[in-house]
Formats: sequence, C-alpha cells, structure tokens
Amino acid sequence: MTNDEPRLTASYMSPILGIDLGTTNSLVGVVDSGFPILLADEQGQRLTPSAVNYATDGSIIVGAAAQRKRALEPRRTVTSVKRLIGRRGGEGDWQPPYNLRELSVSPIEVSAEILKRLKAIAERALEQSVSRAVITVPAYFNDAQRNATKQAGELAGLTIERIVSEPTAAALAYGLDKLSERQKIAVYDLGGGTFDISVLEMREGVFQVLSTAGDTQLGGDDIDRALAESILQGVRAASPHDEARMASLLVAAEAAKKRLSSEANTRIELPFYDGTNSLSLELTRTEFEKLIRPLIERTRSHCLRALSDAGVKPEELDAVILVGGSTRIPLVRRYVAEIFGREPDISQNPDEAVALGAVIQAGILSGSLKNVLLLDVTPLSLGIETFGGLMNTIIPRNTTIPCKAGEMFTNAVANQKDMLIRVLQGERELAKDNWELGRVIVPFPPGPKGSARVGVQFAIDANGILQVLARDTATNTDTVLEIQDTAIDVDDERVEQMISESVEHAFEDMNERVWTEAKLKSEELLPAVDVALTQFGDAVSDDERRVIETAAANVRALLHAAEHDAKSLKAANATLDDATQELAVRLVERAMEESLVRRGLV
Ligand code: AMP
Repeated sequence: MTNDEPRLTASYMSPILGIDLGTTNSLVGVVDSGFPILLADEQGQRLTPSAVNYATDGSIIVGAAAQRKRALEPRRTVTSVKRLIGRRGGEGDWQPPYNLRELSVSPIEVSAEILKRLKAIAERALEQSVSRAVITVPAYFNDAQRNATKQAGELAGLTIERIVSEPTAAALAYGLDKLSERQKIAVYDLGGGTFDISVLEMREGVFQVLSTAGDTQLGGDDIDRALAESILQGVRAASPHDEARMASLLVAAEAAKKRLSSEANTRIELPFYDGTNSLSLELTRTEFEKLIRPLIERTRSHCLRALSDAGVKPEELDAVILVGGSTRIPLVRRYVAEIFGREPDISQNPDEAVALGAVIQAGILSGSLKNVLLLDVTPLSLGIETFGGLMNTIIPRNTTIPCKAGEMFTNAVANQKDMLIRVLQGERELAKDNWELGRVIVPFPPGPKGSARVGVQFAIDANGILQVLARDTATNTDTVLEIQDTAIDVDDERVEQMISESVEHAFEDMNERVWTEAKLKSEELLPAVDVALTQFGDAVSDDERRVIETAAANVRALLHAAEHDAKSLKAANATLDDATQELAVRLVERAMEESLVRRGLV
C-alpha cells in the first residue's frame, strides 16, 4: 500500500479508549500490554461522577468536584444528562432540578464536557495524547441517540470508532475467558437512572443481542428520592419543602442506601437541616427494603418480556449478569434470583463491567487484542473471479476484522492489456453464484501468457470498509477500489441462505470447479500438442504419434461432450500429459542443441 500505509500503521499504534458514559458515573480505560485496564484520575479514582457544574463566572467543573457542588448549586449542576440524550419520545416524567436552557447548554455539550474530562484522565495516565474512542450506549438507544453520543465525542476531540451496546460490552467482559462456549446470557442492568434487561447469545465469541427491554426512568436516583421523601414525611410539618434542602437530603439518602448494601442498619444524620433543627434517625435494611420493593418489582415485567421476545426460557440461560451500581443492593440480587430461578453471576464488578467491555472492544479495534476473540467478523467470504469463472477466496468468512490478505495473479492469455478484477462475496465455487461487490480494471504492459504480475490485496478496516488494492508489479501502478461496509455487512438471513445454498450445492459446485480447472488445462494442452506434432513430428515414432493422437482425441471428445465429466477429463489430461512426456524431453533437448549451435558452442 503506498500512500495509505503510513497512516494505517500509525493508527494501529495509537491507543483507542474504551468509555462507559454512564448516567451517574463514567469510566475510561485502555488495553495495556494485552490487558484491559481502567484508568484512575489524580486522586486514584476510576469512577468519574457524570456531573458538570457551570459556575457563574463561566468556569466548568466536571466529576467529583461538580458532584460536591450539587447540594449547594442544584440549578447549576447538571447530573444524569444521559436521561435527556436518551429520552425516548414522549416517555418519562423525570424533571431535572436544573434547566439546560437557563444554562445555555445542550445535552450533547454537557456530555462532551464529561468526555473531555475522561480524555484528560486518560492522557495524563498514558502520558500521550489520544484521539480515538469506543463508547457504550444502552441497547435501546436509537440512531439519533447514538449519533448524539457520537457528536458529543467529536466535540470532545475524539473520533468515535465504534458505539457498542452496554449489554454486549458487559457480556464481553464476562465472556472474555469463555469464548469457545456457546451461551445464552441475560444482562440485568440497574444503574443510577435507567433499567435495562437484555438477552444475548454468545457463539464462538460472537455476541448477538436477542432482545432488550427496560425502563429509561427507573434507577438508583428513584430509590434515593423514595428514601428522601419518606424521611421528609416524618418532618414535613416542621419544614417547608425547599430545593437546596431536598438536594442535601438526597445526598444523605444515597449514602445511607449504599451503607445498607453491606450493613443491617444505619443512621441518617442531617445537622441543622432546616437551619435550626438537626435530624437523626435510624433505618434498618428491612425498613429500607419494604420502602423500595415496589420500585424493584417494576423490573419483573421487563425481564419476562425480554425472555419471551428472545424465545428463551429462564432455565435455558447459562448466566444472569448483574450490571449497574444498584445491583449491589441485596434485595435486587434476591429479586433477580427469584425472577430467573437462579443465582445471578456476580463475578463482574457491576460498576466496571460495561467499561471493561468497551476497553476490550477498543483493544480489538486497535489490534492490541488481536487473537483474543472474534467479535466483528466477515459474515461471508470475499474474493475475486479468476480464469474460467471460478471464485478465488481471499478473505474467508468469519475472519476477524480488521484484516488484510492478498494474492498474486497473472494473465491467462498472451498480449492481454489489462485484467478485470471482479470483487465477489459468497460461499459458492463459481463466481456467477456469488454476489459482485464491485469491479476494477487493472492495466499492464502486454506480454506472453503468464508474464504479468498483479498483486491483489484486500484490506478490511475496523469499520468494515473493504479496500481492494491491485498493483501491477512491473510498473508499480496501483489501482484502488473502496467498498463501503453496507455491502459487506449483509443481513443474517441472506448470510444463512448463502451458506445453506453452498452446502446444498457443494457437490455439483465442486464438480464444476474441477471441470473448469480440467477444461483450462485441456485448452492449454491441445494446441501445444498440435504445434509440437506439426513442427517436430520427425522427433516421434509412428507408434508414439498414434498414442498421442488417441489421447488428444479422447480429451477433445470429453471437452465437447454434453455432460461435464470432470473426473474423466482430468484423467484424460493426465494420459495426454504422460503420452507427450518423451516428446517434450526431446523437444527440450533439441532446443538446447539449437541454442548451443546458434551461440557457436558446438
Ligand atoms: P451506575 O449508573 O451503574 O453508575 O449506578 C449508579 C447507581 O448505583 C447510583 O444510584 C448509586 O447510588 C448506586 N449504587 C452505587 N453503589 C451502591 C451500593 N453499594 N449500594 C446501593 N446502590 C449503589
């Protein structure tokens, strides 16, 4: 590859970040020395709160520092912005405590601030600048929402190489060491703002989301609010509702909720919560569970729907993976076990599984986790048509992308001026049964048969774009053809049809291939034998001549027979080849003698 080579090489070396842009928290990581790792900020924190504070002086604070301002400046601190990017049309009644219009920012711009912060954390940790990333989004995000996420990345100075569904990422983190297995997995994701349930199938390292369901307005925030309101009810008479007080109450409620995940009871203290009185109360896990149970129960119907949409029974699942901070709540775990009739898999850190999956995907795209797994693969073989209308596969189906492969081709007839390269996709032996993706004509200087040398290279990049490069090695002229992924990315049904047809027709296809190859050989042999017999007939005995002529007649007859008998034609070619062996040797000897005479050596 000429001009493109340096660019390609460079891009393989620069790391690609894996980013989980979460509702509550975000994470960033990279594959380092073959291992997916998450990167920490100056304080050693890997979780960056997805909070952005817009100060009156115009400065912007992101992360934990912004989170701390939330209680003091609820109207200037944007949290859970993903709920706004991700809002499904007409759904949900979540009203944020801030107004983006008042702050003159869009959800995309707020998300971009978070991404800028993650990029800075990564650049500091890696001591180099980075410009590429993989970002995860909920499986139900539509095109507009995915694009909005991509735009946020671009605003932050990142090229988004891939948008990955969160459950796929979680399954990737879970399944990295189980890739050879075939498994059905449910990913139960209860985060800060949203609930998602997905059923996936993992087959030889390829993940397919079979179904997704969920509630974009259900998560840990709702639990905090339920708890805060219940506390407020006890003291409401003495305290009029006010925003700042509610904000600090929410912070206290969240902290208490987290403590109750590991402790049986806890104390909530709010000194001078209304300016005069302090609040202090004891809360048991049992009381807390009673309070939040109705919220958790809302996940049940979504789980059942996802299972039925996927056509999977709970007992057919190999694992139920928990993702999202709220799945640390013991009641949630018990409830999941009840719905699915099995203990959930808690091998993954629920806060980090999605981010790790994004990092793994980034590692695959950057080439640093090359042989680890098949994630994005070529669904069908890619190749070109060669002499006689045969399919010559260059990249077999199921090859992991990005990938590159090439082969050398030559001219089939003398004085050919160019070569038509038809790029094909499919599993059939004959070119005509496969799909044509494109064609390109490669010129070369005319010469004897077999004199041209045209190197054809197929390269598929991480985005699934196929580039076909044909180089005439005599003149070093390159001809390039680019084919977009839309053509390569065929839908599953057509892939299956192509594969089943190739199996169905395997026998006749193979016969046709052998026939074509034998026919090409006959077409090469017959004229050569004719020439030899006319020009050098004196070099053979009558007997020999008869044997050769019979063998040639046999080949000719089979070649023109109505039915293609590949096996017999191949055998007849071999007999003719054998019959002319002696003659060939004598011709070579004679040619050598003549050459010596010409050069005056004898
Ligand atoms: P995520 O959106 O996945 O980052 O999840 C964040 C949510 O998980 C927030 O609502 C947190 O309050 C909640 N969370 C985090 N840790 C815990 C914990 N130990 N117990 C209960 N909830 C938690």
